[in-house]
Amino acid sequence: MYLSDDPTSTTSSSACSISRPSSASSAPPREAVKSLPVGAPSTNLFEVRDTPTAGRAVFASQPIPEGTLLWRSDDLTLSVLLREYRREVCGQCFTYEYGRDLSIRDQSVGFAFCSTECQDAWKRWNGEIGVTAWTAVETLVKKRSKEDDEMVEEGLPRPNRKAITKAWADVEAQASLIRTLREAEQSTTTTSRSGTVEAVEAVQITKQHRRALSKALQQKISPDVMAFIVSGIVWHHNNPQDWPKVLALADDQTPYHSADDLAAFVRSYLHLLAILPLPLLSSLTPEIVFLLSSRDSHNSFGIRSLEDDGSEFFGYGCWPAASYFNHSCGPNIEKKRVGRVWEFRASSEIEDGEELNITYLSGEERKMSRGKRREVLKKNWGFDCACARCEAS
Ligand SMILES: [Zn+2]
Ligand SMILES: [Zn+2]
Repeated sequence: MYLSDDPTSTTSSSACSISRPSSASSAPPREAVKSLPVGAPSTNLFEVRDTPTAGRAVFASQPIPEGTLLWRSDDLTLSVLLREYRREVCGQCFTYEYGRDLSIRDQSVGFAFCSTECQDAWKRWNGEIGVTAWTAVETLVKKRSKEDDEMVEEGLPRPNRKAITKAWADVEAQASLIRTLREAEQSTTTTSRSGTVEAVEAVQITKQHRRALSKALQQKISPDVMAFIVSGIVWHHNNPQDWPKVLALADDQTPYHSADDLAAFVRSYLHLLAILPLPLLSSLTPEIVFLLSSRDSHNSFGIRSLEDDGSEFFGYGCWPAASYFNHSCGPNIEKKRVGRVWEFRASSEIEDGEELNITYLSGEERKMSRGKRREVLKKNWGFDCACARCEAS
């Protein structure tokens, strides 16, 4: 999964934005999407419409002067701050001070912060259960050697649906043993409190259960993949009412970059089953983990430095409303990250009815050839760009 919005990036990184090309070459019907998808942006400046060729797209519903603030997306769901940037980038507001280590470091959860306000906000955002989860992951990662650092090979074929289904099915028996063992911990606790012994007797814990768990923990770890899953699962647990906003996004049924990437997700799932706090286990299912990847794949935005044209790629996150703007190689909307919020502004005069487009190519599209742009867009977002600029040349 994780497509980089930086064609030169070789990390497991991720993405910027949506899966859809501009609909410039098509003639979109002039009616808004019958019922706006949950989580879609809504304002009187523009409307979301279905198009014949580019899925959902955003169109101006009045003339818009250059510089107009069109939308603020403050609906961050999951986010990943790559491990190598954790000391330099604030875990809450993603502030970066030219590579200096931030002053507030919370060793137990493995994040640094620019201020105590950010540290407190991060704790509120994650909740007690989330803080416990990040602590468990950090404890596991610290115990492991450097050899575990993830290596994502590029250019390998993406696993197809069949391979994905098989990979998850192959660990089902082991996962179920681990889950039973973990749930027995809870039964034991409950039993001792209630004073009955039935719960203990209900589950027969055998060597087989313990072996399943220790075998999972011996596997190589992929810290950034674990961070992706933990962030998604904690968010899912804390915000069940917002889950439909993620489900409403365009999906990618083959979101894994390579067989290694898929294997890292499956292994990380088992690792997390073994260590996350029990209340999170109901959200930690293969289905939910896959759904997070399938929606993140084409919808997440890169979290980059705000200086130097965003040359540093810190990680990525998914802001559902922001995902409704499609791509154009000659965008009329400029997006800018302000802390945890994305702001979208008109970068030129926009006519009533014009499609509103951002670029997925982080400004690189200005100097890239048509062929190169189309190649990167096809590879990372899976579409043939039919924007006005590509069609004109
Ligand atoms: Zn901060
Ligand atoms: Zn284009």
